[in-house]
Amino acid sequence: MTNAVHAGREDLTALGVHVAGIDQSTTYPVTGVTQGGDSYEQMATGGRPRPGDSYVYQRLWNPNVDRFERGLATMEGAEEAVAFSTGMAAISAVLLACVAAGKPHIVGVRPLYGGTDHLLATGLLGTRVTFTTPDAVADAIEADTGLVLIESPGNPTIDLIDIADVARQAGDVPVAVDNTFATPVLQQPLALGAAISLHSATKYIGGHGDLLGGVVATSTEWATRLRQVRAITGGLLAPTSAYHLHRGLQTLPVRVLQQQANARPVAAFLAEHDLVEWVRYPGLPGGDPDGIAARQMAGPGAMLAFAVKGGFDAAAAVAEHVRLVVNAVSLGGVDTLIQHPAALTHRPVASEAKPGEDVLRLSIGLENPDDVIADLRQALEAARDLSPEPAREEPNLRVAVRA
Ligand code: PLP
Repeated sequence: MTNAVHAGREDLTALGVHVAGIDQSTTYPVTGVTQGGDSYEQMATGGRPRPGDSYVYQRLWNPNVDRFERGLATMEGAEEAVAFSTGMAAISAVLLACVAAGKPHIVGVRPLYGGTDHLLATGLLGTRVTFTTPDAVADAIEADTGLVLIESPGNPTIDLIDIADVARQAGDVPVAVDNTFATPVLQQPLALGAAISLHSATKYIGGHGDLLGGVVATSTEWATRLRQVRAITGGLLAPTSAYHLHRGLQTLPVRVLQQQANARPVAAFLAEHDLVEWVRYPGLPGGDPDGIAARQMAGPGAMLAFAVKGGFDAAAAVAEHVRLVVNAVSLGGVDTLIQHPAALTHRPVASEAKPGEDVLRLSIGLENPDDVIADLRQALEAARDLSPEPAREEPNLRVAVRA
């Protein structure tokens, strides 16, 4: 909690301010051509500015981005962090760093966020992927494997992966964990042997559904490579977004813990409902059968998935009949969101890895959970009572996976 409030703000009192101003400069005057060139070289190759360096250009450095990065790195127990314009830009930079190092083979454990799965499946960035299961990571590693990429809890079905076990199997190959669902409040992958913990900061870190961002917490060596990729490719976090993300860190523990507390009764309600086939939530009795969440997480989080009896039509009807809960993609904000992964977030995923058409994903917010339960109850009843409609058009849930 203390780090969340103070990290990245250590110098503010000495500066005589309580909150940092937002530095919007796109360019910075250089004191001389030679000095400016030295500063440029320092940052374009991934280094941090030295005392006396000009920041030269916003694509090389921005003080608000730096503050957010220092705050997040502290919370993740990482040496450094590098922020990007979106979660996908962060993942892309990690993949490009692997390609640049001559290690373009990536081992991916499904399920992954649909955008990540799509990026890997297309090989758009020059990577080659082997998708595998958590217990077969060691067998999937090749001579040019640059990364093992996992999510835990996984999007959308809240699958849990033993991070320490994957790190053991990976040996010298770095493991990257998409920590978006857990946040550093509930899980710190670096302490479990991962080399990288990355986020769609768009979600819990921002927390209010009003900005896009991504961030990678890692070692200084990786951070240097990632800043170089960022300086070259330009997937930069905007200073105003960095300001708001840094502010978001201050309330992240409070929000996540309350959202988690709210998720428990919602999961319990769904688990008891006769129209619900199953619920995935590690906080339910039997919801963490292998003890993975208990070992590596400080709590089960606030993301859950459930299947509705009646297939696509019934699941779609539930999503379409909510009134308080919002039928929308994204997650981690203060309001509860529901969405149909197969039709939306995981639309581009190959059919063998696509979530079922009866599955819905819920991101629990800060409303009174009784109100969320009442809304889900009436939406489920509406799905039950759905009068027979003229035949729906077949849902087109297939998208060609191509670059
Ligand atoms: N990782 C996970 C787990 C996500 O859920 C998402 C987006 O939904 C991303 C990465 C991509 O993040 P962004 O939308 O910020 O690019």
